[in-house]
Amino acid sequence: MIEPAWISHPDEVDAKVAQWQADHPELLLAESKIQFAGRPVWALTVTDRTVDDAGKRRMIVYKPHAHEPAPIAAQVNVIEQLLTGQTIDGRPSEFDGERVLRECVLVFLPDANPDGTARAPVEAWDGSRCTNEEFWAWMRGPDPDTGEMWKRVDIYDEREEERLPSRTGIVYEQIDEHRWVEPNRHHSSTLFQWLFELTDRYGDWDQLLSLHQTEFVNSPHNAMVILPCLYDDLPQDIREYEMRWAEEIVAAWRDVPGGNPIEEIKPLAYTGQQRQYFVERWGEMYDRYPILTSEIQNNNPRTPPTVQQRLNEVALKVSIERLVEHGFRRS
Ligand SMILES: [Zn+2]
Repeated sequence: MIEPAWISHPDEVDAKVAQWQADHPELLLAESKIQFAGRPVWALTVTDRTVDDAGKRRMIVYKPHAHEPAPIAAQVNVIEQLLTGQTIDGRPSEFDGERVLRECVLVFLPDANPDGTARAPVEAWDGSRCTNEEFWAWMRGPDPDTGEMWKRVDIYDEREEERLPSRTGIVYEQIDEHRWVEPNRHHSSTLFQWLFELTDRYGDWDQLLSLHQTEFVNSPHNAMVILPCLYDDLPQDIREYEMRWAEEIVAAWRDVPGGNPIEEIKPLAYTGQQRQYFVERWGEMYDRYPILTSEIQNNNPRTPPTVQQRLNEVALKVSIERLVEHGFRRS
């Protein structure tokens, strides 16, 4: 049984967006791109649309990976508060909604691959159904011979693979008849199509926040903030902004019941090909805007879905408060 405030299945998200559109057209611009598999990938711009956007601070929040559903549930609950003044389960909003909406443009991509999310066997990974090995085989598909996780690539073409997974991994997004991509590792994904279009439209961002989950194998912790892999080479003002923002998120996580964040804030530690994907696909944006990645534990009874959702909501709350109070763009 998922908690009543948890909405992550694409059918439920679509229904929620339709309700928001009907009830709050002055605060929400809901746009979608239809991914190849047929589902809408929503870009939800939340702001007071009666106030000119020119002087507003801007943040975009996105959730690339279909096996990581808690960031969807968190974004839906935060948007609900900003639009209605209440959480989904009827508690008062944690935000000064009027000020946030008047002074900021918030763009949410709550689910960059809803087809993948809909292919998952569960709406939340609480650790009761799958071992991590079984979970990872859902993520990238099971190897046809061993049943273990298939490989991690930016893009693959079914016609060119000698051994395809026996079930397509839910992390992959189909982009045409034969090709699949990992959304944050290839520019052909609907995620990147949206990021390019929205960046053209809104101009500079003050903050980009990428929401993720991971398993924290052999770690007592269940939350961490990651800096860009190129952090050490970024402009000084971006580095300082990212570090202060990250420290604020970690500090807030310490106060969440069940939260146990990693104190140290470091750049993404990938090497080799996986690092190269990020350098090639994100390098230009890293150089221009403050970008943080949040990781909350997935598939472990130590971090139940309510805590997964809460830690994501707190990362969002701190980020929105920082946007209102500071913002990055040099005027
Ligand atoms: Zn992820």
